[in-house]
Amino acid sequence: MPGTLYILATPIGNLEDMTYRAVRILGEVDLIAAEDTRHSLKLLNHFGISKPLTSYFDHNQQFKGERILQALRQDKSVALISDAGTPCISDPGFNLVRAAVAEGIAVVPIPGSCAAIAALSASGLPSDAFTFAGFPPARQGKRRTFLGAMAALPGTLVFYEAPHRLEDTLRDMLEVLGERQVVVARELTKVYEEFIRGTVGEVLAAVAGGKVRGEVVILVAPGEAVQEESEPLPELLHRLMHDEGLTVKDAARKAAEITGVSKNTAYTEALRVQNSLN
Ligand code: SAM
Repeated sequence: MPGTLYILATPIGNLEDMTYRAVRILGEVDLIAAEDTRHSLKLLNHFGISKPLTSYFDHNQQFKGERILQALRQDKSVALISDAGTPCISDPGFNLVRAAVAEGIAVVPIPGSCAAIAALSASGLPSDAFTFAGFPPARQGKRRTFLGAMAALPGTLVFYEAPHRLEDTLRDMLEVLGERQVVVARELTKVYEEFIRGTVGEVLAAVAGGKVRGEVVILVAPGEAVQEESEPLPELLHRLMHDEGLTVKDAARKAAEITGVSKNTAYTEALRVQNSLN
């Protein structure tokens, strides 16, 4: 009987986000595989967990993956954790999970923090459909091509980014994706948590000069053309004013947030829709 591989999420900053189940499972498994054992030891000590620990990171995946699979084949249970958040989400784990699935080994997720989901949930951008795109390429040429491939996707685009590349990436977004609503979610769950909201141009101005430090998620609203496919602006405004009873100003503000069109465009359209309602 092979053991079970647990894909276990850990906090992205605030230790109170560790789940009861995560603590229990870590206390029960035979082996914990961690991206950085020294980093994870602090977390394990905090929760009073003392278990055999092995490393599993990008550059030893092949060799360590085989050893972890060996333990699983011998009926040992293993928890995979990363430095923060959910393993496999821009973190190591995919190759191990794929190999375990191929061998018929049970893979059980222990859900918890994930920066992309935390950011999206509080962003105020459409969350009914979204694309998680991970880290954009570091080189500008590749980054622009990568962003270009996302331009027509429906739903909000969610990216991870290093703080020192934030401005360059926002500049490329402005050029490739156009002026859309964007949110930079910074230092989630930590003391200096912050949401910087606005058009790409406005957010660029707010972060100019390398002012933003710490970890960031960038969220980009669907473009006007993309959004029109799901709910055209006039219909949206009609619904907000007629069915939800919002004023012209509030409907325009909400429509601009939802669609990514400018507040001026939304306001002009809202006036036109209101006149047609009268
Ligand atoms: N597996 C992790 C998860 O589930 O979110 C992501 C790991 S990835 C190597 C690290 C990136 O996630 C950071 O560069 C940043 O973009 C994002 N991130 C992680 N923690 C964050 C936080 N507290 N606030 C904002 N972004 C965060």
